[in-house]
Amino acid sequence: MGPQAQGSTRSENDRSTATTVAVVGAGMSGLIAARALHRQGIDVLVLESADRPGGRMMAETSPLGSRLDVGGQWVGHDHRRFIALAAELGTTLFPMHTPKRPDVIAGNRKLAVCGPVMLTANAVLLSWEIRSRLGAPRGWESQTVEAWLRKVPGRKVRRLLEVLVAVSTTSDPDRYSMHAFAATVRHQGGLAAMLSTRGGAQEGLIAEGAGTLTERLAAELGPRLLTGRRVTSIRRHSGGVTLHTAYGDVQAAKAIVSVPPPMSARIVYDPPLPANRTELEQNTYMGSVHKAIAVYERPFWRERKRQAEAVFLDKPGRALFDTSLPGGPGHLCVLVAGPEARELDRLDVDDRRRALLRPLVAHLGPEVLEPVSWHEKPWHLDEHVGGGYAALPLPGSRAGYFPMPSDPVGDIHWAGTETAEEHAGYVEGAIESGERAAREVIDSLLGTAGTG
Ligand SMILES: Cc1cc2nc3c(=O)[nH]c(=O)nc-3n(C[C@H](O)[C@H](O)[C@H](O)COP(=O)(O)OP(=O)(O)OC[C@H]3O[C@@H](n4cnc5c(N)ncnc54)[C@H](O)[C@@H]3O)c2cc1C
Repeated sequence: MGPQAQGSTRSENDRSTATTVAVVGAGMSGLIAARALHRQGIDVLVLESADRPGGRMMAETSPLGSRLDVGGQWVGHDHRRFIALAAELGTTLFPMHTPKRPDVIAGNRKLAVCGPVMLTANAVLLSWEIRSRLGAPRGWESQTVEAWLRKVPGRKVRRLLEVLVAVSTTSDPDRYSMHAFAATVRHQGGLAAMLSTRGGAQEGLIAEGAGTLTERLAAELGPRLLTGRRVTSIRRHSGGVTLHTAYGDVQAAKAIVSVPPPMSARIVYDPPLPANRTELEQNTYMGSVHKAIAVYERPFWRERKRQAEAVFLDKPGRALFDTSLPGGPGHLCVLVAGPEARELDRLDVDDRRRALLRPLVAHLGPEVLEPVSWHEKPWHLDEHVGGGYAALPLPGSRAGYFPMPSDPVGDIHWAGTETAEEHAGYVEGAIESGERAAREVIDSLLGTAGTG
C-alpha cells in the first residue's frame, strides 16, 4: 500500500481509529520517527501512555525563569544529530562550565590527585579502558561489577569505582556484569568520552532546556499525538496491526514501537514475538537514577573560586555538576544512581534535599542549603518510562548489549535509543533510531525495502 493519509478520526469516544502508521511512545525517538513520516505525507498517530510527551526528557522552569532538565540534558561533543536538532528548533547551545578535573570528596576531604587512592583508581580505569578495546574476557560475562570490585585493593578506591560505574550507567553493581560494562565503554568510544565534560558526553547544554526539543516536536505533531494512551496489546494480522488502548483500538498498516525492551515486555503481542525479542525483554531492566537540580540566584561558589564539579563517595554516592546558565542563575545538578537512588525514595522531599545538600556545605559554602528552588525526579518510579538512563543487560546475557536488535517483526518496527548504532543510551541515539525506523517504514510502504 502507498503512504497516503487514511483520514483518521480521533475523538476520545471513538472505539476504533485508523491510521497508516501508529507510533508507540512520544519520547525523542518516537517523535522524530513520527515527524519524519508526517513530513513525507504519511498519516501517523503517536500513542503515549503518560500525560506528557518527552519520555526520558523533561524540562521545568525555575521561579527565576531559568529552564532546567530533570531528564536527559547534556549534548555530547560528537552528538551531531542532537546539535543539529537543537539549532533547527531554535534553541541555544552553550558549553558547560567545567574545571580541568572534578574533585573527589570523601567525608570532608578532597582526595589528592597524586595520592594513592586516585593513582590506584586511575590504574584500574586504564585497565578497564584497555580491556574494553581488546575485548573483555569471557569470564567477565557472569562476573558482576560488585564481585569484580571486591578484588580491588583499598576501600576508597573500590568506592570511587563503584560510584563512577553507577553514575555513568545507572546499573546495580550486583545486576550488571563487567563484560556488559566493558562492552558499553567500547560502544561509547571509551571511558574518557563517557565520563568527560569537555570533549566528552557532557560537553554542552541547551539554555532553553533539552526537554524543550521534545515539547516543540510534540507541538509540531498537534492532534497526531495522543497522551494518556497506554498501548496494552499489539495484534499482527493480514491487514497490518491492531493496537489496543483503554480508549479503543487503533488499526494501522505499520507500528513503530519506540519503548525500551523492559517496557515493551508489558505489551502483549499476538502472535508472540520471536525468541530473540522475548529473550531481550526478559534479560534487561531499566536503570535507577535520582536527578535533582538546586537553583540559586547566582553560582555563588564561583565567586569563591570553588568548583562545583565533584564526585562524593559518602552515601549516597553522587556526582555534582555546575549546570548554571551563562550569566546565571546558579544551577547545581546532583545525580545519584543504582540502589542508592532507590534508598532516597524512603525520605520525604525536605529530608532528601537536606541529605543531598548538607554534605556540600564544606565544599561550596553554607548558602548551598538555601536554594531558591529544588527540582527532582526519581526516574525508576516513573511507571511510564521505567527508569534511566537506559535499559541494561542482566549478567550472563548479551541480549541487551548496545545496540539492541531492531529487526522488524512483520509490520512492527522498533525505535528507541537502545537500538542506535552510535551513542545508544543517549538522546543522540534516540534521534538516530527514530530516523532509521521512519526510513524503514517509508521504504516498506513504498515497496522499496531491500532495493537499496
Ligand atoms: C535522569 C536522566 C538523565 C539523562 N541524561 C542524559 C544526558 O545528559 N544526555 C543524553 O544524551 N541522554 C541522557 N539521558 C538519556 C536520554 O534521556 C534517553 O536516551 C532518551 O531520552 C530516550 O528516548 P527514547 O525515545 O528512546 O525513549 P523514551 O524517552 O523512554 O520514550 C519512550 C516513551 O514511550 C512511552 N511508553 C512506554 N510504554 C508505553 C506504552 N505501552 N504505550 C504507549 N507509550 C508508552 C513512555 O512514557 C515514553 O514517553 C538521560 C536519561 C535520564 C533518565
